[in-house]
Amino acid sequence: MPGFELWGEEEKKEVNDVLETGILMRYGFDGPRKGIWKSKQLEEAICRRFGSKYAQLTSSGTSALTTALAALGIGAGDEVIMPSFTFVASFESLLSIGAIPVLADVDETLTLDPSAVEKAITPRTKCVVPVHMCGSMADIDALSAICKKYNLILLEDACQSIGATYKGKQVGTIGHAGTFSFDFVKIITCGEGGVVMTNSEEVYIKCDGYTDHGHDHKGSDRGADQHPFIGYNYRISELHAAVGLAQIRRLDDFLDIQKRNHSFLKDILSQLPEISFRKIPDPDGDSCTFLSWFLPTEEITRSVVNELRAQGILAGNFYWYDNNWHYVRKWDHLKNVTALNRLTDAQEAALNKLKSQDFSASDAVMSRCISTAISLLWTDEQIREKGEKILNVIKKALSGQKEAI
Ligand SMILES: *Cc1c(COP(=O)(O)O)cnc(C)c1O
Repeated sequence: MPGFELWGEEEKKEVNDVLETGILMRYGFDGPRKGIWKSKQLEEAICRRFGSKYAQLTSSGTSALTTALAALGIGAGDEVIMPSFTFVASFESLLSIGAIPVLADVDETLTLDPSAVEKAITPRTKCVVPVHMCGSMADIDALSAICKKYNLILLEDACQSIGATYKGKQVGTIGHAGTFSFDFVKIITCGEGGVVMTNSEEVYIKCDGYTDHGHDHKGSDRGADQHPFIGYNYRISELHAAVGLAQIRRLDDFLDIQKRNHSFLKDILSQLPEISFRKIPDPDGDSCTFLSWFLPTEEITRSVVNELRAQGILAGNFYWYDNNWHYVRKWDHLKNVTALNRLTDAQEAALNKLKSQDFSASDAVMSRCISTAISLLWTDEQIREKGEKILNVIKKALSGQKEAI
């Protein structure tokens, strides 16, 4: 999955350019920076590579989501529909701008079930945030149609799916805005960082100001800039952008390796008819950072997970159903509203209802799902060995199951 696996000379060279001048900030210092503008260069590279009109770098994927939400005009009391399976950043960004997270079920795409989204819409709904989880994509056509029908904003969280496409378009560039994360474990990394992509000049200008204390960036004297609205500091540093600049040039190589390793492993696991695979709305567009597969029941899946653990080969295989960070089942801090600061009454009321919300449709999918992270470093021999070991563990679990009957 992650670009950090192939850290090398290219990244060091880009960082060194910044270290030579010592100008670690992306704005100002026009003289001493000697023409080195890594953040600007990375934004241009992102626009070119993904076909977005505008790109605004941020300090993280989480702050990219927060920035996009604010720039799209979403705030206090607005309901935003997000999936039950995603990273905690989804609700963190929503809560931080005063919005109300409304959780909807996922289906076998491991992303928002469009029919669950439609059922979750109320007169207060303002936006839908599909999360393109684990390298693949949501059913964007169905979700776009719902957003059009109800006049809702579509914000794509493509943090985990850099380089994935849907019907020829890059995910993250299809909705009103979209985000990537460049944190350390994403497909390409800056160490820490993120980006908002949009085709709307108005949304972009708002993102640009919001991430830098409201600066309008119209002159060359920062102190004389106007502040047309209130902002925050979600800036990326030049050091981080420099790493990303080297990584984006290598993205297509990373994707090629991932796709190859993914298809090799999938061929091996396909030998067992009891294994089924994640539904992918556009299979050709999968970025292939994970191979996600299902077993027939939760019981069999649990015994496979236990056996993988016992054999010391669980690492790299994710059973999200038990995971503290990615699935609603373990989000006790959210359901108990354990926040450091007071949330709004409307937010508290909505979160209190999560404890009794029925997520059985999501449970039925997630309790049978294991995602295997695809490494860029695997040799063919290692993939074969890994695949065979997983197959044997599953066969053992299945035969144990038969004996029990
Ligand atoms: C990683 C991730 C984020 C947040 O990105 P950070 O850069 O770690 O803040 C948001 N959404 C999803 C789905 C992610 O995987």
